[in-house]
Amino acid sequence: MRIDIFSIFPEMFVSPFEASIIRRARERGLVDIQTHNIRDYATDKHQMTDDTPYGGGGGMVMKPEPIFAAVETVRGDDPCPVILLSPQGRVLTQAIAQEMAGQERFMLICGRYEGVDERVRERLVTDEISIGDYVLSGGELAAMVVVDAVVRLLPGALGYEHSAAQDSHATGLLEGPHYTRPPEFRGWAVPEVLISGHHARVDAWRREQAILRTLQRRPDLLETAPLTDKERKWVQELLDAEQAPK
Ligand code: SAM
Repeated sequence: MRIDIFSIFPEMFVSPFEASIIRRARERGLVDIQTHNIRDYATDKHQMTDDTPYGGGGGMVMKPEPIFAAVETVRGDDPCPVILLSPQGRVLTQAIAQEMAGQERFMLICGRYEGVDERVRERLVTDEISIGDYVLSGGELAAMVVVDAVVRLLPGALGYEHSAAQDSHATGLLEGPHYTRPPEFRGWAVPEVLISGHHARVDAWRREQAILRTLQRRPDLLETAPLTDKERKWVQELLDAEQAPK
């Protein structure tokens, strides 16, 4: 996979992409991440990448020319997705990350200031992604979030291949609790089933815990979660018991 990131602060990406899973994925040749400084594509004397907004108002707007030049130069004839990070885009979900992990290549444009000239959004960009309903100072942190969520899904990126499939949201449920050694800490014991060595019981317990946790924290997810009829009946019983007068 190849990811190109366009930003006026490409130095922000150095450390996050040099650590942990992203570093390993890069070293294994699973992903080639290239950052590009939009300023390098500005042709005026001062290499301006922003200007005052037409119509007045506060803040600056990122100019279209350097962004178009940067993307078109790097993209060449490849019609790959060009994604603008924007608080107005569709909100990133595990399903979107999964969809992006299937792409051979995509590009990320990081806005700054008041955002980018509307012609970038209308004529260059193929999709807009938000990482949540809040406003960041720039698209760089959002791009890092997108890259991390996507790269860890690439086959071979995680040490333990199975773990992404069990993650929260991958199955439509939240993941249940985790424990590690020691079996007892300050008198708090690990659930007996986990040290039983009985794999079928462990799997059943994990599934039950995932459903319970989803019910407690994100009941909205259960509406579309792939539950069996038996599991759905159990959830309904739990809900009924909660509503029953005490
Ligand atoms: N004035 C814009 C608005 O109200 O929609 C917000 C601009 S924001 C200060 C500057 C840049 O940060 C945006 O162009 C975008 O690239 C990025 N950004 C801010 N919040 C974001 C979010 N929730 N998700 C993705 N990118 C975001």
